[in-house]
Amino acid sequence: MNVYDSEKIKSLLQNKGLEHQESYDDADVVILNTCNIREKAAHKVYSDIGRINHSNKDRVIAVVGCVAQAENSEMLKKNQSIDIVLGPQSYHLLPTMLDDVRDRKVRSINTEFIVNEKFDYLSEQGKPKGVSSFVTIQEGCDKFCSFCVVPYTRGPEYSRNYNSIIDEVNSMVSNGAREIVLLGQNVNAYQFKNGNKIYRLSDLIDKLTTIKDLKRIRYTTSHPINMDDELIDLHSNNKKLMPFLHLPVQSGSSKILKMMNRKYDVEFYRDIIFKIRDKSPNIEISSDFIIGYPGESEQDFINTLDLINDIKFTQSYSFIYSARPGTKSAMIEDNLTKKVKSERLKILQSKLTEIQHDFNKTHVGKKTSVLIENQSATNPEYYFGRTPYMQSVYIKSNNLINGEEKDIKITSCNHKSLYGTC
Ligand code: SF4
Repeated sequence: MNVYDSEKIKSLLQNKGLEHQESYDDADVVILNTCNIREKAAHKVYSDIGRINHSNKDRVIAVVGCVAQAENSEMLKKNQSIDIVLGPQSYHLLPTMLDDVRDRKVRSINTEFIVNEKFDYLSEQGKPKGVSSFVTIQEGCDKFCSFCVVPYTRGPEYSRNYNSIIDEVNSMVSNGAREIVLLGQNVNAYQFKNGNKIYRLSDLIDKLTTIKDLKRIRYTTSHPINMDDELIDLHSNNKKLMPFLHLPVQSGSSKILKMMNRKYDVEFYRDIIFKIRDKSPNIEISSDFIIGYPGESEQDFINTLDLINDIKFTQSYSFIYSARPGTKSAMIEDNLTKKVKSERLKILQSKLTEIQHDFNKTHVGKKTSVLIENQSATNPEYYFGRTPYMQSVYIKSNNLINGEEKDIKITSCNHKSLYGTC
């Protein structure tokens, strides 16, 4: 989502007459679009500012995104080089705030949740060029998982206007996009009311399917409790919706899920996967895992490994628990040593890697459909693309076309990528 937001900010400022620079050394204004989901990312902002400020003290520095939202006016106190602090729901105010800094030499701050205004304004900005492009359809979260800052930094769940999303996707496709990834912190909670009709994610995907040159549709990130029957059915009957679902579970222990306030238990999660696979046997699942949540016993960890063994997630993200200030979990005593957490993460990641590698191996010697995204800049004999299951594929060829879907013969693989020819 930050990549998408950064693109929007870039085009917003280009429309104001600013030029994008590859290096901050050549820039008069530097914007740091920040993430607050983990402690390390939040700390990095201050070290980055130190480095940026070192080479030119007159440069305007704007900190935007979730760290700005969470730390608010504290940021201006903590670091005198920061000129602008702007939360993720008010990016459209950035041009005016830059004027304030330049004309009135005042430091400026805005962390209000004015998300509907933001979408109205930003949806018209810029023309993305990627074969695979993101579009945000939903922001914020009402679920309040005990460990997560998103409900505080991105605000309550908000769904974008249905028609404006369709217009934006149409414009992206006419500018070369062939795959659209619908984004939201709780993307499958999307619902937009227009008169008596409520449009859900399944309605939106159905409608986008009718766009002729759009070949692939994905959505991320979903919450298990919002996997409704219509969406599950859509995976079995919509050819443009890719057979790959990112459905974060976080833990394989119902005790830990309860402490995390995830609003489901392991049986519920297993049932959802069973239902999806029953209708769409070819679907692959990926997930997120938090390891070393306070109170995680050896048995809780084993339950997580069991779930991984049963479901066979073919791609996943896994992290050691990171306490975020202001969340409920941050107040629970952390009973696990760093050593235990690191050991558990290592075991879990090696299991996930093994499953991913095994899955990749099943493609070797076969042909698979790949959407060609780009030609390598350093080695033009290679193209890059993705399978329906999001696997990266490097293809040796000199006559592929970006945006075409091609059957590629897979010749080898490692756990991360496939390699092929055509
Ligand atoms: S559902 Fe996702 S975004 Fe919302 S609080 Fe939980 S982890 Fe955070």
